[in-house]
Amino acid sequence: MGHQATGAAAGLPPHVLIFPLPLHGHVNSMLKLAELLCLSHLHVTMLLSDHNHRRHADVESHFSQYSGFRIATISDGLPDDHPRVGQRSLDILTSLMRVGGEEFRRLMEATDALSGGGSRRRVSCVIMDGVLSFAVPVAKEIGIPIIYFRTVSACAFWANYSFKEVVEAGEVPLKGKDEDKYSYGSKPELDLLVTSVPGMEGYLRRRDLPGFCRVSDVNDAIFSMIATETRQTSLVDGLILNTFEDLEGPILDQIRKPIPTLYSIGPLHAHLQARLETDKKNRSLPAISLWEEDHACMAWLDTQPARSVLYVSFGSITLLSKKELLELWYGLVNSGQRFLWAMRPDSIVEGDGESFVVPAELEEGTKARGHMAGWVPQNKVLMHSSLAAFFTHSGWNSTLESITVGIPMICWPYFADQTINSRFVSEIWKIGLDMKDTCDRAIVERMVRDVMEVRKDEFFERARRTAELVKKAINEGGSSYANWNRLIEFLKSTIL
Ligand code: UDP
Repeated sequence: MGHQATGAAAGLPPHVLIFPLPLHGHVNSMLKLAELLCLSHLHVTMLLSDHNHRRHADVESHFSQYSGFRIATISDGLPDDHPRVGQRSLDILTSLMRVGGEEFRRLMEATDALSGGGSRRRVSCVIMDGVLSFAVPVAKEIGIPIIYFRTVSACAFWANYSFKEVVEAGEVPLKGKDEDKYSYGSKPELDLLVTSVPGMEGYLRRRDLPGFCRVSDVNDAIFSMIATETRQTSLVDGLILNTFEDLEGPILDQIRKPIPTLYSIGPLHAHLQARLETDKKNRSLPAISLWEEDHACMAWLDTQPARSVLYVSFGSITLLSKKELLELWYGLVNSGQRFLWAMRPDSIVEGDGESFVVPAELEEGTKARGHMAGWVPQNKVLMHSSLAAFFTHSGWNSTLESITVGIPMICWPYFADQTINSRFVSEIWKIGLDMKDTCDRAIVERMVRDVMEVRKDEFFERARRTAELVKKAINEGGSSYANWNRLIEFLKSTIL
């Protein structure tokens, strides 16, 4: 079985199989990649988990405009009623690692290998979420190239790649036995600079390492898996990252040493939008939502003064305890600033025994200056003229979306790559503040005032300049634009 065109397949475009880890943030950015490929007239099969597919009914309708796009499904191996949020979202990774390999092999070795009965060639290249290495031996045996796509920042990728050295240097584990999450705040040893991640020696503290390092044992299953999976990247035919040279150039140069074939093509949502506009299709970005969007917040934003509102959202996975909820909420109300809080229906930890009655002063403060919403159209919110800043968990999609529209951030990272993203936001790009390892109303209040009032112009100006760099990267002549064209050339060469 090779990938060369034979018989009926001759003349058909390359056929790319895209397989994201079935978590919203991963699926979200890889769908942008899929649409960019469709715009370049390639055939695409998107492999989603059954669970994901059921929740993303809008994917099919959005992509119906592209005849070369198709969805295939695979089981993630978890029962339907598994929550798939908070720390337990990582069960998806361990489960897929267990069951995904076999299913993937069956799919790829099937007689038509997703060829759609002659209307498309067999899969000619796999673009795989770079934490699912079981695809590598299958692709190699079949003789088709495999490229990794990592949905995280370059800085997070590079720190993950260096976990082996971080362990050797004794800079992890970060956690003592039985310590709780907020013990990190009071540990001065976590402020020591990390020496084992090349290029980050001057500014990366131990507490900024990816959240996977917050374990008491380096043999922890997830930590080891991330370390091993990331290291495998040098075995594949290339790496795609959703970032751009002017943002993370020095780190991308470090990554190029072991992984020379690197395509930095981000921010993907903005890149896609730019290509849609040039294509004169003028469509708006796909609204791929987990929940029904709450549009009432847009009407509320319309009634607020320019550059006055803090948007609060902690993404699609973060869970808040009732104590955290109260501290954050008091901090916001006490800051005296306007805010829009997008709170996912399943984002508060249930069943911890505490009953929760919203204190009257929070009700009043929210009524006076705030608006509570469910799942919102985040990109539209961030683009609204009344927006002044974003209180975020530093998920990479959210970070890029904020950077693209020049909105400064207050970062309250929850886990995974978020702890390092927030360090880059505050210390390297200087477009916000990092609140990691604390959850205290007085600190929230101070940071909100800092970003929204005291240092507002300074943050705003730097964020505006960073947003200019995004425009430069994704438009003709820019680095992401050129790297995308280089990737398409490679994909076309796989069928020659
Ligand atoms: N998002 C949204 N509405 C919301 C909250 C989040 O559309 O109310 C989107 C947001 O625009 C982003 C994604 O969900 O694209 C969250 O991804 P991110 O990488 O920031 O965090 P994750 O959810 O993976 O932790």
